[in-house]
Amino acid sequence: MSSITLINPADESVITELSFSTVADVDAAVERALGAQRVWAELAPSDRAKALRTFAEAVDNHTEELAQLEVRNSGHPIGNARWEAGHVRDVLHYYAAVPERLIGKQIPVAGGLDVTLLEPFGVVGVIVPWNFPMTIATWGFAPALAAGNAVVLKPAEWTPLTALRLAELGLQAGLPEGLFQVLPGEGSVVGSRLVEHPAVRKIVFTGSTVTGEKVMAGAARQIKPVTLELGGKSANIVFADADLEAAAAAAPGGVFDNTGQDCCARSRLLVQNSVLDRFLELLEPAVKSFRVGDPHDEATEMGPLVSKPHLERVRAMLADPGRVAFRGQEPQGPGYWFAPTVLLPSSPADRLSREEIFGPVVSVIGFDDEADAIRLANDSDYGLAGSIWTRDLGRGLRLAKSVQAGNLSVNSNSAVRYATPFGGFKHSGIGRELGPDAALAFTETKNVFFAST
Ligand code: NDP
Repeated sequence: MSSITLINPADESVITELSFSTVADVDAAVERALGAQRVWAELAPSDRAKALRTFAEAVDNHTEELAQLEVRNSGHPIGNARWEAGHVRDVLHYYAAVPERLIGKQIPVAGGLDVTLLEPFGVVGVIVPWNFPMTIATWGFAPALAAGNAVVLKPAEWTPLTALRLAELGLQAGLPEGLFQVLPGEGSVVGSRLVEHPAVRKIVFTGSTVTGEKVMAGAARQIKPVTLELGGKSANIVFADADLEAAAAAAPGGVFDNTGQDCCARSRLLVQNSVLDRFLELLEPAVKSFRVGDPHDEATEMGPLVSKPHLERVRAMLADPGRVAFRGQEPQGPGYWFAPTVLLPSSPADRLSREEIFGPVVSVIGFDDEADAIRLANDSDYGLAGSIWTRDLGRGLRLAKSVQAGNLSVNSNSAVRYATPFGGFKHSGIGRELGPDAALAFTETKNVFFAST
């Protein structure tokens, strides 16, 4: 394939046609990036910080444009897309502090002075999925640039538009030409070449665990570090002593947000058996009133799935769903719609309760006591996120320590804040994005000893 026709997933209208990059384009981009990185590294830290702040301001001046672009390309509800564009600005602002605060160590040793230098890798490859195109892109490129690197970014085939616009804004804001490039194209061509290119010295990948394995294997052949943010099958654990009304009101957003196309989706809802019936009574109206429809409507809470192939994939997974408890709204007419769906599996081992569906589907599973809840929560290859609903703080703490996942919240479904680290245990990934230490993952530590004699 040499090009792609981008389709608006809400109405199936054609947005535009886009040419794909080739292996030769990647090689040329890496060459440009190497030159730009040398220019970037020679700038005073304060000038690099200023350029990133100017980039953040450019994003701030274009948040509405970026949000509208995401609504059309990805089907995100406008309210979510505005939050995402604002988040991009905030992440850039946060990491703009890094160039002046990337501080090495002076280590006491005999016979001289020992210091560590934190040096950029050079060129970093960032490979981005289609579920949160601009935010996940920024989690990679912002700290990478802040640590002094150049970035070549591959967006997902279906959703390249916001990343392409961000690269333009970066250039207009004064980043050296070639420092931040976006190459749309196929994963097997552009993504693979970034992984294999010897001058790309670090890879940040977000996507499926299957592709993550391939990326890691390719990077291993080059002894190249990777940050991997992969899938999830997170548990939302509701104890009998919780504020059940609050937990039931929050549960639909915890899994149906972004139409379930969210690695943090709480797609396993574990409810203590003694309150299971009561909880389902509360959950049903919350699911049925979850507003699904036109992403341009400010009241919309859930849009379509991202593409026809993905809709077909989700439908195929649900072809024999077992016991459906209830479903929410599904607009008719064009668009890749799939109703919010609540399943009552006969067993936690049910395939739909173990595999990442990446659609608006949640499995409700009962548990008896705390030990049972922990066992079920950890009975997954994944370990990305999770929630614990209880009024007992001690229990909240015990669960938080026992559940094997990188991002937990007690009495909330919150997972992502730019100032706190984000990433997974087990098959959910390697490394952490966001938070105060993310930029360090884009540096090599060099130790230098100065003899005093
Ligand atoms: P992939 O993991 O295949 O794609 C993620 C990114 O990797 C895309 O940019 C893709 O390019 C690229 N890519 C694909 N193959 C390679 C390769 N060999 N080397 C380097 N890069 C590559 O996800 P899918 O789009 O196929 O989605 C399938 C499932 O993965 C979803 O249904 C969901 O379960 C899960 N997923 C999880 C995500 C998360 O946030 N954890 C995000 C997206 C998907 P291209 O666009 O050309 O395919």
